[in-house]
Amino acid sequence: MYADLHAHTTYSDGSPLPAMCRAAEAAGLDAVGFTDHCIVVDDEFGRRERYRLVETYERRREAIERFRPRTGLTVYDAAEVSYVGDAETETAEFLAAADFDYTIGSVHFAGEFDYTTPAQYADASEAERRAAVERYYDAVVAAVESGLFDVLGHLDLPERMGALRGHARREDYERVAAALSDSETVPEVNAGRVHDSLGRVHPDPAMLDCFRDRDVRFVLGTDSHSPAEIERRVPALREVVDEYGIPVAEFEPAAVVQ
Ligand SMILES: [Zn+2]
Ligand SMILES: [Zn+2]
Repeated sequence: MYADLHAHTTYSDGSPLPAMCRAAEAAGLDAVGFTDHCIVVDDEFGRRERYRLVETYERRREAIERFRPRTGLTVYDAAEVSYVGDAETETAEFLAAADFDYTIGSVHFAGEFDYTTPAQYADASEAERRAAVERYYDAVVAAVESGLFDVLGHLDLPERMGALRGHARREDYERVAAALSDSETVPEVNAGRVHDSLGRVHPDPAMLDCFRDRDVRFVLGTDSHSPAEIERRVPALREVVDEYGIPVAEFEPAAVVQ
């Protein structure tokens, strides 16, 4: 593994950029992409208030440009953009103006469902949990079909939460795999919960199986928010890629000036 394409800095909920770069170098990477949370439209969950890259990306860009001569790494100026189904036009306009090196599209919420915190599902019935998961995969397929993003983030995010775990079906995975195989969007192997609540990468090995015959390649992201996470997760990702023989995409964001 040479590139970690998913890491957060203080421009969202991560750590200072120089420290993240030093950890990436120490982990033996050639490239790291900073993908701070980017929420283009207001959502019902108040996340836009916390993550303001829409307003601060130019400052972060200057910080990345200042840092590039001080590192042997390729440093990408990228974003993890929350996909919101009824805001595709606003999202496209913002992304065209911001001109990131690449973007990760992530479904963090869809309709009334928030997939970043379990609170909402504590008293939910089985049918409600299944509906939340099905709605999630509807949004993932729509995010792929929108063509807005270079990378699709953490494919099976609901599995992070015990209340939703195990409510995905093979048919959900199949339709995501079919959408990705018809698309330029590349899925990500994400190590964001490899050492805690989930104990494995996204996506589930059962989901990876659905990709085997479709010639879909993956990029790799640690989804780190601290230097220590990069150091621990890079070797874990390498191991998983080897163990499952995951095909890794040649990913060359266009026009990266070093
Ligand atoms: Zn995310
Ligand atoms: Zn992330």
